[in-house]
Parts: sequence; structure tokens; C-alpha cells
Amino acid sequence: MKTELLKGKIVSQSVRESFKIRINSLLKDGFVPQLAAILIGDDPGSQVYVRNKALTFEKHNCKSKIYKFSVSTKQDTILNLIEKLNNDDHVHGILVQLPLPSHLDSQVILHAVSPQKDVDGFHPYNLGLLLEGNPNFIPCTPYGILEILKFYNIPVSGKHAVIVGRSNIVGKPMFALLAQKFELGNATVTICHTGTREINNYTRIADILIAAVGSPEMITGNMVKKGVDIIDVGINRVDDQSEKGYKLVGDVDCNSVIGIARSVTPVPGGVGPMTITMLLANTILSAEKFRKLSVNS
Ligand code: NDP
Repeated sequence: MKTELLKGKIVSQSVRESFKIRINSLLKDGFVPQLAAILIGDDPGSQVYVRNKALTFEKHNCKSKIYKFSVSTKQDTILNLIEKLNNDDHVHGILVQLPLPSHLDSQVILHAVSPQKDVDGFHPYNLGLLLEGNPNFIPCTPYGILEILKFYNIPVSGKHAVIVGRSNIVGKPMFALLAQKFELGNATVTICHTGTREINNYTRIADILIAAVGSPEMITGNMVKKGVDIIDVGINRVDDQSEKGYKLVGDVDCNSVIGIARSVTPVPGGVGPMTITMLLANTILSAEKFRKLSVNS
């Protein structure tokens, strides 16, 4: 079987094209979509992610401001900044780059972000609305996965989707979306985790397999059925002989599923580019909601 590579870069370009009219309309009305990104500590991966997010915003005539803090910053300092940003009418989206240093309570910090500016979609209010089927902001990575499935016309309704991983940012919201009765969902969904016995029994019966584990190349060809569509969310650094000393691999052993799967997202270049694009989508949506409120007030 020929395995198609689901290229997030292409999907991302197409989705971003659709933003142009919306951004121009906002700019015309004096609303510049603006993201405030809070970066605490010196994790190299987080620094790259935040920088890329800022560059993407600039490229689309939107604003982003990065608030950088040292690793030892106190929780109150972050909470005070979030309160200030919550009340700043020019800021439409607030992002707290994860993971946070261990002395900070990520739950308290994420809950402090106003649900109206929670463009990552991590606030319990927004997760509740998602579960209800009436989302305000959809978490960016699951949102990007829906866009990939839509772009490549991968049927979801009536299929059996198996998600490996139950994090609050990927696995659980993905479950809520795919199980939802709407045009991009309506699947029967199984969610696997470290408590799952004989995980192969589930991965082998998946029509759509979503791996969000954080375990390099854990899903191999002998764990999947012929014709499956695979979304590999994982981004794992593994040592190699290159100049950098490492390479990025997914949670799926891509080579071993080629010829078995109908399609698979590559790593890098699959889900990754979609996450930033959907952050931009949520920030534009937030700016539109603010415009609507200001017109009505
Ligand atoms: P988490 O570490 O928060 O969650 C991992 C999940 O995988 C947990 O639910 C865990 O189970 C489960 N798990 C771990 N090992 C196994 C195993 N051996 N068998 C079954 N289940 C297992 O990870 P995230 O969801 O935040 O991220 C997952 C991966 O996706 C990472 O590589 C991350 O870098 C990447 N990622 C990529 C993004 C992108 O834009 N492409 C965005 C976000 C994440 P349990 O709950 O039982 O511990």
C-alpha cells in the first residue's frame, strides 16, 4: 500500500491563507491581534517555540510580546503580570509556555488566565465548553489535527479512533473533539495510557491512530492495521551523529509503518507547524470577539 505523508506545512499554508481577510478587516477597524507570551526559565526548546510563535505573528501583521523571566521567578510575579494582561484591552491572547519550573504551580497559573484570552484553550472553563460541544477556544494541537484530517479528506465519522496519551493539552481534548457529534468528529474513540494492558490490542484495531506519548518511535508497524491513518504528535530529541548531536523523531517509527498505513504525519513537518497556526487562529478569533463586544457596548 502506498502511504501518503500528511504534510502539516502545506495544510498550515492553506489555513493561514484564510486568515488574511480576517486580519485585514481587524486592522482596518483598529484591532491588531496581539499575543502576550510568558516564558519562564531557560529551556532551549521553549525558547525556540516562543520565538517561532512571535515570528509567525509578525509575519501576519499581528503583534506578540514576549515576557521573559528567570527560572527562580516567584509565582506572585507571574500572577500579577497575568492580571495586568487580563485587563489590557490591547492583548487578545495570553500564552504561558509549558513546562514551568517545578516550584511554580502550573494549575494555579493557567487558571489565572482570563478564559476570554486563553488562546491555548487550557483553562477549565474552555475545556468544559469543549466537552459540552460548544467550544470557545480549541486547544491548538488537537485543533491542528482536525485541520489536517479535514484537508486530506480523511473520514472520521463512524471510524474507530485510538488515541495513545491522555494529557490535558493533547489526548483529552482530542478525545472530546473526535467523540463530538459534529462534521469533523462522530468517531468511536478509545484512549490509551500507561494503565492500558496490551496496548497492541487497541492500536491494531484503529482506523485512525493518534500518538501523543512522548516516547520515541514507540508505535511500530506490527502494532497497526493495514490502511490506518496515523497522526504522530510526538516530538522527541534522540542523540545522533549529526553536527547538532540530536535529531527529532515522533512517537511513531515512521519507516516501519510505510507500506502498511494509508497515511502518516512526518516528524518534523507534520503536526508541529499546525500548532502555531492554530494559536494564530485562536488569537484572531479572540480579537474578533473583542471587536464585537466593543461595537455592542
Ligand atoms: P504528556 O507527557 O503530558 O502525556 C503523555 C501521555 O502518554 C500520558 O497520558 C501517558 O500516560 C502516556 N504514555 C506515556 N508512556 C506511555 C506508554 N508507554 N504507553 C501508553 N501510554 C503512555 O505528553 P504531551 O501530551 O504533552 O505530549 C506528548 C508528545 O507530543 C510529546 O512528545 C510532546 O513533545 C509532543 N507534543 C507535540 C506538540 C506539537 O505541536 N506537535 C504539542 C504538544 C506536545 P499516563 O497518563 O498514564 O502517564
